[in-house]
Amino acid sequence: MPHLLVAVIVGLAVCQLGLLLTTLYLHRAVTHRAVSLAPGFAFVLRVLVWLVTGIKPREWAAVHRRHHAYTDVPGDPHSPILDGYWKVQLFNAVLYRRAAHDPETLRKYSRDIKVDKWDRALFDHGFLGLAVGGAILWLALGWRLALAAAGVHVVSYLVLNAAINAIGHRFGKRPFPGFATNNQWLALLTWGEGFHSNHHAAPTSARLSFRRGQLDPGWWVVQLCQRLHWLQVRHDGIHFTRAAQAALERQTGAHLPGAAAPAAGKPSPDVPAGEGTVPEEVLSRVLGVPAGEERLPETPPTEDRKPQLV
Ligand SMILES: [Zn+2]
Ligand SMILES: [Zn+2]
Repeated sequence: MPHLLVAVIVGLAVCQLGLLLTTLYLHRAVTHRAVSLAPGFAFVLRVLVWLVTGIKPREWAAVHRRHHAYTDVPGDPHSPILDGYWKVQLFNAVLYRRAAHDPETLRKYSRDIKVDKWDRALFDHGFLGLAVGGAILWLALGWRLALAAAGVHVVSYLVLNAAINAIGHRFGKRPFPGFATNNQWLALLTWGEGFHSNHHAAPTSARLSFRRGQLDPGWWVVQLCQRLHWLQVRHDGIHFTRAAQAALERQTGAHLPGAAAPAAGKPSPDVPAGEGTVPEEVLSRVLGVPAGEERLPETPPTEDRKPQLV
């Protein structure tokens, strides 16, 4: 096999590892507490995030929680509705960095994530993590191929992460209120994150696919890890935001609170079920947003943006 092809394959594999770590650790575990991790497993993931992405979890969580609190309204760190698709698709990393370096973002949205000795020694030094990760690639492949693989990883990781924020609010199906969209093809490339409309409708759900036919590979990994007792899924069902639940009730004519959602591993129903009236309290707690400061998007007025089940 040509050497360059090996470098491309390794680079794409590392990118996929980075995206899996992003959805499992940074997003579903640290930011939304949709899963709670066994301490040893959490530490392994934390090390891997450092080596593969160099991202500081509390910064990522703060920026993302701010996005949930101000979705597509002024204050959103990266809205393609406000800023335009290409600005978010091409400059997502710059927008992220700007928000992450705003002390107010961290103070307000990640106050529950404490800094410990490991952060001070290692994890707060993102470039050191990337350098160590690069050195491991160097030892495995030699410096030329390591450089090529690292380049493929960095570019593809940035492009796909940006796509979740850009395409995920601009193109695709909108089954729930708001501009967030579902794209199965993007979900397959990002371990489920392409179901972004579903995610905004139920941010504390560990599962991003809500019905039969929607494939969320990240959820498969979550289920496997749960079987291995490496993590615990927080809710048996899907906890919708109030806006999403109201939209579902309008569509189905059903009163959803109290309806049982499928247990882990069971097939999804055609119509997703709600569970309890939790949204604001739960969201306030897990998003780190004081009650009353949360912003939920209005249902867009145009006909094609009316909530529809996909
Ligand atoms: Zn979003
Ligand atoms: Zn989220």
